[in-house]
Amino acid sequence: MDIWHVNSTARGGGVAEILTMLVSRADTGEIRHHRFVTPSDPSLFNLTKRLHHRLHGRNAGPLPTAAEDRAYTAYGHRCAQAFFAATPEPGIVVLHDPQTLPMAPLLAAAGLPVAWRCHIGTAAPNTVSRETWHYLRRFWTGHPVLIFSDPLLVPAEAQPETVRIIPPSIDLTAPKNTPLGPAATADALRDAGLAGVPDDEPVILQVARWDPLKDMTGVLRAYAESALPSRARLVLCGPSPAGIVDDPEAADVFAEVRLLHQQLPPGIRNRVHLTCPDLGDEARNASTVNALQRRATVVVQKSREEGFGLTVTEAMAKGRPVVASRVGGLARQIEHGRTGLLLDDPDDLPGFADLIGRLLDQPRQAAALATAGQAHAVRHYTSDREIRDHHRLYAELAATTRPATPAGLP
Ligand code: UDP
Repeated sequence: MDIWHVNSTARGGGVAEILTMLVSRADTGEIRHHRFVTPSDPSLFNLTKRLHHRLHGRNAGPLPTAAEDRAYTAYGHRCAQAFFAATPEPGIVVLHDPQTLPMAPLLAAAGLPVAWRCHIGTAAPNTVSRETWHYLRRFWTGHPVLIFSDPLLVPAEAQPETVRIIPPSIDLTAPKNTPLGPAATADALRDAGLAGVPDDEPVILQVARWDPLKDMTGVLRAYAESALPSRARLVLCGPSPAGIVDDPEAADVFAEVRLLHQQLPPGIRNRVHLTCPDLGDEARNASTVNALQRRATVVVQKSREEGFGLTVTEAMAKGRPVVASRVGGLARQIEHGRTGLLLDDPDDLPGFADLIGRLLDQPRQAAALATAGQAHAVRHYTSDREIRDHHRLYAELAATTRPATPAGLP
């Protein structure tokens, strides 16, 4: 059975992490995984990023105009054609996120079993998110199976019988998560500007794409406006801004963070490290993130919305104490006061700095949270479980396969 996972970027972000894991680890004698990355289209990715924000309830611009709607549908057609050209015997197809959704009715009409996995959304739907789902649901004709990370993210527009839940996971055997030797650690910390920082000097870390919803700017402000600079370094680590083809906002967000950083008084500025691994160098990116997560005294994720948040899973699995906003998948992964600390209002900068300060003040409490968090992450959010979930899904999809139809668009 050939399984094709289709998304819009070869690297960058949690989806690419999960697909790399499935392709490298989830094959069996019968099941073979493949990836297909859709053709890049920068103008279309402006639209899909707008849809992405809107699905998180953020009014980042209007619903697609008639012309944009035509372009989005045409993109689905182009991607489906490219997919059929590249895959004469496609098998089962799992599409990921809104970029690929317009392919769903075309693939279903060609007789392929199709699932669409949505990694984003909000647990607090509002008019903006509802309108956006209302717009997107017309691509569900052909009845693909719809997969969400969490029951709380399932929109009312989805027919319950088509919905399946698969929480994301991390691969504990991947270079990003296996223990690092001293030389690799030293290299990675030097790359991140931490060479010469004494081992006992506390470090606060956020790893994230340069995306407004990750609020790197808010992390920097909260740090700079509190007493934290006298107590710990801050490291903000995000991919080199040109590195993710379907994320058009990264350069602007990174420029904003860098400007804010440059405007800080030197005594604070020198305590903040911005680091941008090149995602093209997979091994180096993995060891940079791995070393930083292991070096961090506190790992934070101050997202305004978050479908899941693998960065938190990675940190928890490494036994680091975490502070995160009480939103989406972060609230699902962290139980406040037991496996980490949650910030009720993601825009509460002093409250955020206080929670970090609490962990720096109370290393024993921090260690207890970290130990409980590690057990929780390893038990629920590692790849063996996600592989089993996928194998179950494939068996179900295979059972719905229609009699052979010539591969191609109807
Ligand atoms: N990541 C990375 N290098 C970076 C920043 C992030 O490899 O410079 C990885 C990070 O380790 C995690 C993924 O990108 O595996 C981000 O996934 P998450 O679910 O946290 O957020 P998403 O980007 O999917 O919204």
